Amino acid sequence: MKGRVYLVGAGPGDPELLTLKAARLLAQADIVLHDSLVSREVLARISAGAEVIDVGKRCRRKLLTQEEINTLLSGYAASHEIVVRLKGGDPSMFGRAGEELQALREANVDFEIVPGVTSGLAGAAAAGISLTDRRVASQVLFSTFSRTPDANAMDWGCLTPATTLVLYMPGPDYLEVSRRLAAAGLPPDLPCVIVSGASGAEQQVCWTSVEALSFEQKLPAPALMIVGRIAAKQIQKIGDAFLRGRSTALPAQRVSIS
Ligand code: SAH
Repeated sequence: MKGRVYLVGAGPGDPELLTLKAARLLAQADIVLHDSLVSREVLARISAGAEVIDVGKRCRRKLLTQEEINTLLSGYAASHEIVVRLKGGDPSMFGRAGEELQALREANVDFEIVPGVTSGLAGAAAAGISLTDRRVASQVLFSTFSRTPDANAMDWGCLTPATTLVLYMPGPDYLEVSRRLAAAGLPPDLPCVIVSGASGAEQQVCWTSVEALSFEQKLPAPALMIVGRIAAKQIQKIGDAFLRGRSTALPAQRVSIS
C-alpha cells in the first residue's frame, strides 16, 4: 500500500480555527506526526484509532532531527494510507515544510499541503488590528528573529515606512530585539504589539514601542511581535496624523539593515 502525506496546518491553537479539511483529515488519519506547538484541543480531534507521534518531544533526551522526521514520513507513507504531518499555524510558515517537501519529492511520496491560520494572523486578530491599512500600511513582512549568522535570517532590507513587520520567534531577549529593530532603521516610537498564545485560553497582548520593548516583561512562549504604524490601539489617531503629513513614526526614506 502506498499512502499520501498531508502537511496540515493546525492553526494557532483554537480548534475552531482549524479548516474543515484539517478536521476531516485528523478524524480519518492512520498516523499523525505533530510538533510540540499544536494545542491539546486540536490534538483531541485526532481519530482514536490513529497512532500519534510527538516529533517535537524529547526522545531519550534528544530531539528528532529533521532528517529523522523526513525518513519517518516516507517510511510511514509506505505502510499507512493517511499520514498527517501536523504543524502549528500554517505548515509553510517557518515550519521547515520546505525540507520535508523536498524529501517527500525525492522519495517519490505522494503529498498534499493543507494550509492553516498562521499565528501572525491570529496575533493581529487577538490585538484587534489590521495588518494592512490603506492609510498607513500597504505591505506585510513575515520574518523571524534569529541570533544565528545565517545569511537568510533577519533580511529586513525591504522594510519601508508602510511595512508591517510580523516577527516570529522573537525569543526572550527583548532588549536585543529592540536593538536590532532600531539598527534596521525603525524609530524608537514606532508601535509594537507582543501577542502570546494567540487564540488560546492564555492569550496575552502587550502594547509597546520599538524602544519601550527593551523594558517589557517577557510574555510566555509562543509569542510574536507585530511592528509598524498599525500596531497601535489608537490607529485612528496615527492614521490621521499620517494623512496630515505630521507623522514622525518612520523616516520617509527606505530603511535597511546592515
Ligand atoms: N508555522 C507556525 C510558526 C512556527 S515558528 C505558524 O504558522 O504560526 C514558531 C513561532 O510561531 C513561535 O516562536 C511564535 O513566535 C509563533 N507562534 C506560534 N503559535 C503562536 C501563538 N498561538 N501565539 C503567538 N505566537 C505564536
